[in-house]
This record gives sequence, structure tokens and C-alpha cells, in this order.
Amino acid sequence: MLKPREAVRNLKAYHPPLGNRQGLRLDFNENTVGCSPRVMQRLRELDAEQLARYPQREPLEAVVASHLGILPEELLLTNGTDEAIHLVCETYLEPNDEAIIVVPTFSMYEIYAAATGAKVIAVPAGEEFRFPLESVLAHINERTRLIAVANPNNPTGILASAKDLLEIAAAAPHSALLVDEAYFEFCGETLMPQVRKFPNLFVSRTFSKAYGLAGLRIGVLACHPDQMQFVRPVSSPYNVNSIALACLPDALADQAYIREYVEAVIDGRERLERELREWGVHYWPSRANFVLMYFGSHASTFILAMRQRGILVRDRSGDQGCAACVRITIGSTAQTDQMLAAVREVFEEIGVRQKVRG
Ligand code: PMP
Repeated sequence: MLKPREAVRNLKAYHPPLGNRQGLRLDFNENTVGCSPRVMQRLRELDAEQLARYPQREPLEAVVASHLGILPEELLLTNGTDEAIHLVCETYLEPNDEAIIVVPTFSMYEIYAAATGAKVIAVPAGEEFRFPLESVLAHINERTRLIAVANPNNPTGILASAKDLLEIAAAAPHSALLVDEAYFEFCGETLMPQVRKFPNLFVSRTFSKAYGLAGLRIGVLACHPDQMQFVRPVSSPYNVNSIALACLPDALADQAYIREYVEAVIDGRERLERELREWGVHYWPSRANFVLMYFGSHASTFILAMRQRGILVRDRSGDQGCAACVRITIGSTAQTDQMLAAVREVFEEIGVRQKVRG
């Protein structure tokens, strides 16, 4: 029988629990109201000619680079962040190299790194999921070729400081440091301008979250041109499809839409966190568009009771250190009203005791 490579045979598959997602989607950290109407208008205007041609990525790379304040040669458009992670792994990892990740975190770093045959070193987050700078530094050795950090992290919402991340970049010049800024818009802190100064730094962004385009699959990888010359040929020249490319200028141009959505999410995040404090439910203060909380023995009852009220939330209890934890994505103001009303009802039903009412 035809056998795949050993590293592939041993891969743990990532099965996102998509299934039947009828209801309010607070389970995948997506935008919950849809993209800018300008993007929808552009989609309606697409014609057969545009689909008949192979996509041309470069003109749009210039547009996105200018939006991000970097040079086109520092940027690659990718098929979502997933492809950016894949490309960095394929470009730098040899079998038996080491890739450091900080757990719990987004699953694809481990999957793509392990698929190359590299050894994945999972460093546990610190107390209250804080970024474990000392521990990461202590695990760097001459075999380390990748350090991947989601910033803010998923599923915890915790942000590592720029100072800590740049200390790592400086301590491991022989290793790629990938800083995945998928939730940048909800936090506002970035290492993007540093790619020029740190030739081993890679920063990724996505249009899947704030921009509401997860289905189109568009992301960005940025790094020093000296490294981009190696990464670029690893990607397909047609990795980003024509529909996604056609929509990009309108998605970027409608910053008012992004601002309004992000403001609503940040306000909703504060409202949920306040509610959790009032009920004495432990949570981790988040810089992203979701909040992780701890329910002890109530976790599965909570998830089910929310689903019965038409609200999907995500069980994260399988992630390292996240036993009995649930993650709720924040949506628009009206959706937050709906979510909070359900949360209160369910808390009363399952007997979570209210501490304070403000
Ligand atoms: N990085 C992080 C930290 C994520 O949470 C996600 C989505 N859950 C992704 C990347 C995937 O993003 P994309 O849709 O751009 O591939």
C-alpha cells in the first residue's frame, strides 16, 4: 500500500466542529454581521471575464502594502493566515528541527510544523495564561527554527508585549519568529513596522475576522525582503483567487465599516466581562473579539443551554490548561444584548450565583 511520510502518518487532524451552525455564530471568532456592503456590491458586479483569467496578485499586493505602511517586497498575499503559517513552515523547517509554540494556542502551527517532520516543542503559558517569556527563551537552542505566537492569542485573548516578542526575535536570529496578528483590529498593537529591522520576524494578518471575509480566504504575510525572496516561490502564484482580489480594494477602503464593527465588539467585550465579574465567573481579560471563561462542572450544561436558545458558543475544554472553559465570540451590539440576556437566564437556570448587581 502507498504510504505517506511518517510525519504525515502521525499528524493529529484538526476537525473544527462546523456541523450544523444554525443560530447566532459566537463559536468561531468570525465577523457576525457580514462584510462591508461595498464588498457585496463589488461581488455583484463581477463578470465571467474576471473568472476566466488567472488571478493577478501583485497589483493588489501594492495596494495592501500601502495600506499597511510597508513595501510591496515585504508582503505576500496568502490564502488566509493558514497558508501564511504553512509557507513559513515549508520554507524554514527541516525534519528534526524544533518549532516552539506556546499552548494553549491556535492548532495550525502544530499541524503544519509537524507535517514537515519538525519536532513541536509546546511551552505552557504562564499563570493566568500570561506569555511565558523566560520559558520560551529557555527552550531556544541551535535546532530551533520556528517560534509561532498568536498575538492576541486564541483561545485566551492574552496579548504578549512587543518588548517580549522582540527579545525573542533577537535571542533566536537563526529561527523564524511568526507573530500571528489575526485579531489585530480588536487590539491595535502590532509588530508590522518591525519587519524591516528584524530579518527573522514574520507578521501575519487576515481578512477573516474584523473584515468578515473568512469565506474568501485572504491573508497577509509580511517579512524582510531578504526572507520574502525565499518564501514567495514556495507559494502558488495563484494562491489567492480572483474574487478575493477583486474585493480587496473595497474591503480596505471602507474603514468606517471596520471601525464601527470593532467599536461595537470592544464595547460588547467589556459588557460581557463586566457581567462575568458580577456573577463571579472566572474569565481571562481579552484583547480579541472573544472571551474565554471557566465554568467548572457547569461547562457542558452552559453550552447546551445556550444552543437551546439559538446561540452557538465554543467548548475549549480540549485545549491544554482549558478544562471546563468556554469561549464566546463577541458580535454587534444587538447580538451582545441577545447573548447577555441568554447568559443571565442560563446562569440562573444552572445555579451560578450572582455576586453583585450593578
Ligand atoms: N490565526 C489565529 C490565531 C486564528 O484564531 C485563526 C482562526 N481561528 C486563524 C489564524 C485562521 O485565520 P485565516 O482564516 O486567515 O486562515
